[in-house]
Amino acid sequence: MNAIVTPPTSSRKPDAIQKEDAMWIQKELINRNYHELATARATNRKVSATFVPGNLNELLMCFDFARSLPETNALQNGMRKKSGRFIMDAERDGQSEDVCTYVKADLGMMMGGEIGPTGEPLPRPDLLLLSYTGCFTFMKWFELIRQKYGCETVMLHVPYQGEGRINPNMRDYVVKQLKDTVIPTLERISGVKFDIDRLRQYMRESAKAEEDLVWTLQSAKHRPSPIDGYFGAVYYIGPIFTAFRGTPEATQYYATLRTEIEERIRLGKGPVTPDGEMSEEKYRLVVEGPPNWTSFRDFWKMFYDDGAVVVASTYSKVGGVYDFGFRHDPDRPLESLAEYCLGCYTNLNLPSRVDMICKYIDEYQADGLLINSIKSCNSFSAGQLLVLREVERRTGKPAAFIETDLVDPRYFSAANVKNRLESYFQMIQQKRSAAAH
Ligand code: SF4
Repeated sequence: MNAIVTPPTSSRKPDAIQKEDAMWIQKELINRNYHELATARATNRKVSATFVPGNLNELLMCFDFARSLPETNALQNGMRKKSGRFIMDAERDGQSEDVCTYVKADLGMMMGGEIGPTGEPLPRPDLLLLSYTGCFTFMKWFELIRQKYGCETVMLHVPYQGEGRINPNMRDYVVKQLKDTVIPTLERISGVKFDIDRLRQYMRESAKAEEDLVWTLQSAKHRPSPIDGYFGAVYYIGPIFTAFRGTPEATQYYATLRTEIEERIRLGKGPVTPDGEMSEEKYRLVVEGPPNWTSFRDFWKMFYDDGAVVVASTYSKVGGVYDFGFRHDPDRPLESLAEYCLGCYTNLNLPSRVDMICKYIDEYQADGLLINSIKSCNSFSAGQLLVLREVERRTGKPAAFIETDLVDPRYFSAANVKNRLESYFQMIQQKRSAAAH
């Protein structure tokens, strides 16, 4: 699953879409990473591919890898309306309709000549680093790429949080793999010797950026919320969930973002949407599940046109759950990397996910829960109805369910989604009126 969005225009000039300053910095960072990937061969850099949840960005940087994140490539192609054709190409090549559409969009892109979302070449990886954090598809996805290109693969097996907590032996097991398998493989492929002080330095930067990211996401506790914690947050999480966590550029980006949002709070402003500032906040929602990318703006518009703001989402935690206190710790570098992977949202059991959502509803004073169920994402979809019922029972707040897909445009039915959302907003109104009497 994952997470990095850039505004869909190609140059920094005024256009119909409104953006905050930090959004431009974000866009430049992301484009820069695609350029680094495109020029990796010419600059003699090795290329790694790794998934967003449980990514070991700081560690990969210690070995000078250029870093590609396959889910991010797929969603970028989705936003640029390229994924539909890639998915059909992958299906013609034998992938079933039920396979995660990120996988098919990625495979289709490779079949189409390995041109990345920005139009620059995306080189074949020298290394697939599979940090396995709860989604079985990750494993099958890299198996397919390895089969196709014969890339070297190294796997970090992260035990599932079946009992809802991290035991010391789980952490030790991950650390042992880092020491015995992952680091030696990264050294061998890159030809760079591991320097733990370099890792510590990156982790110092990570912790600073994480602090400002958490502050940003928690700013939605204000009324009106100065941000949208789902549609807006996918821009905010971009740098830290991908190739920039641990860099001074990411630290700078989050500091700028924080300053902008502090100003919005001071002025009592709501979130910036693609059509400008949202005027009146009528509904405050918590959302579970990833967004739809192929109709991202239309989807968001259905919310802000009706005055609905998402104050918290589970998706904005998919590359790291930081709001309950975890930070990368330079004093315990490998242990801390292990705890980061173990704590990923995809690695949490259902009771932990329910607890998290109930906490959000309470702390962000939300009107209810909306689940966007993704047709082809088994990892998020499994158990969502149970989550919905349990959250309703525990909070007494109304919950609703819509269905879309990540990057397959065939599974976004605008009329259906809009109808359901409108009924849900009415339901919230009725609940409020009933409570007032
Ligand atoms: S199934 Fe879901 S969590 Fe797994 S890779 Fe696909 S989108 Fe990500």
